Amino acid sequence: MTIEHADIAIVGAGPAGLSAARTAARSGARVVLIDDNPRPGGQIWRQGPAFAPAARLRRWLDETRAQPNLVVMNATKVAAATGDRRLLLEREGEPLTLAWSKLILATGARERLLPFEGWTLPGVTGAGGLQALVKGGLPVRGERVVVAGSGPLLLAVAATARRHGADVRALIEQASFGQVAKFVGSLARTPGKLAQAAALGVACYRTASVVVKAHGAARVEAVTIRTRGLDTTIEADRVACGYGLVPNATLALALGCAIDEAGGAIRPADARPIRERERWRAFAGRVARAFELGVAARAMPPADTVLCRCEDVTLGAIASHADWRDAKLQTRCGMGPCQGRICGEAACLWFGWPRASARPPFVPIRIDTLIAARDAAAPPDA
Ligand SMILES: Cc1cc2nc3c(=O)[nH]c(=O)nc-3n(C[C@H](O)[C@H](O)[C@H](O)COP(=O)(O)OP(=O)(O)OC[C@H]3O[C@@H](n4cnc5c(N)ncnc54)[C@H](O)[C@@H]3O)c2cc1C
Repeated sequence: MTIEHADIAIVGAGPAGLSAARTAARSGARVVLIDDNPRPGGQIWRQGPAFAPAARLRRWLDETRAQPNLVVMNATKVAAATGDRRLLLEREGEPLTLAWSKLILATGARERLLPFEGWTLPGVTGAGGLQALVKGGLPVRGERVVVAGSGPLLLAVAATARRHGADVRALIEQASFGQVAKFVGSLARTPGKLAQAAALGVACYRTASVVVKAHGAARVEAVTIRTRGLDTTIEADRVACGYGLVPNATLALALGCAIDEAGGAIRPADARPIRERERWRAFAGRVARAFELGVAARAMPPADTVLCRCEDVTLGAIASHADWRDAKLQTRCGMGPCQGRICGEAACLWFGWPRASARPPFVPIRIDTLIAARDAAAPPDA
């Protein structure tokens, strides 16, 4: 199997990984930047046929184009951390080992989906998922869209959909009006975010509300919203629902990193970058508090709701199991292509189970890649 070497390997080509790569490459070190998307940019700078690179990404691409010691590996999956400072990668269907001296993880976050009745109907997606699809070229012009879940990302998603001609019928936020109003008041401490929120607009914003059911035959046609126990149904061609973000910590966990869920204590500022970091950590704390999931958002849907759509396992089928590992082994829940990224998160939230440890392969890969990794690891006479 081919072995690549990196003085500094960076996983994740979103704003954080790109910034780390540019700085590291200036030192002359051989830097390898890995990302599973076809183009760099991560979530916020996601490129696509309908989306040219954002100005800051374009600047990064211009500045690093002639940097021979920076290797960018797009569409590359990290399948396993094989020990001895090596990562098993799969690139264009081929296995590859990356040997690193230093490793930076900038793996970002993914959105939290909480299944509800009818969530597997075509036309129902995550909130950020719809944004990514639109950036990737999905036409939504003239479609009736309901954006739901929790957090400021919903505003950005609604704005993207509107910019592409969608009729955003409702923006459904689980947090109460009081929580949201307090958060908006706190935006004075981050004027840039206040300006962003004002630009995104808050028309058709409904607080203290959750999506409980998507209706439709072949695809979604309507959605039922519950507000303080009262149900209303809205016609919709698309429902985009996401309850905030969860960190992509699988690789970090597999490497034995300690995870600081609280984001670390706020420390006294000494230098400007530290001050900036603490300021944004404080902002993240305010977002987490304002949009903390309430009782309605945490309520379990009926037992016959599909929880794992990859393996077609219902919520009722896993309810009697002791923990996530037991549920997986007995029902195949979480063993499909998404490897429990959706159902695992929801099950741990609803049943209070601790999160499972990270087990390779982290993403679906070809059997050839696994065989090549095994052969490469075997002693010569085995
Ligand atoms: C769907 C979605 C949409 C969002 N939209 C917005 C928005 O419109 N505005 C906003 O302000 N914020 C948005 N966010 C929040 C976003 O997380 C941050 O704004 C910003 O993108 C974080 O930058 P980052 O570099 O830390 O991580 P990211 O931008 O998330 O980049 C991390 C990159 O690492 C890759 N990656 C992760 N694990 C692996 C692995 N094992 N192997 C290979 N590659 C890996 C990911 O695919 C991704 O490309 C969104 C988040 C999500 C999940």
